[in-house]
Amino acid sequence: MYCREAVKKALFALDREVFIETVERRGGWLLAICYVKSQSQPDFCYQVFLKIKLGTRYFVGHCECPDFKFRGGPCKHIVRAKVALREYLKIKKGVK
Ligand SMILES: [Zn+2]
Repeated sequence: MYCREAVKKALFALDREVFIETVERRGGWLLAICYVKSQSQPDFCYQVFLKIKLGTRYFVGHCECPDFKFRGGPCKHIVRAKVALREYLKIKKGVK
């Protein structure tokens, strides 16, 4: 997706590079859809799907970048999306 599209849909943005589109609680899990800016194509953002087990550090991530497809493991986009999500949750908690 183009980053300018991701910006429009974002409920939270970190450093203009990570955009969170949705955060949803389901059972004991937190599900989030994020977009993280690509280094090789600056206009483009990769979609990152994150699933975090609440109350733990356990998470499952999926990214559409070639690196993730090639290695099948967490790429830097997943790591960045996780950081943004943590910031988002911190702010949300502060507002309540
Ligand atoms: Zn990635």
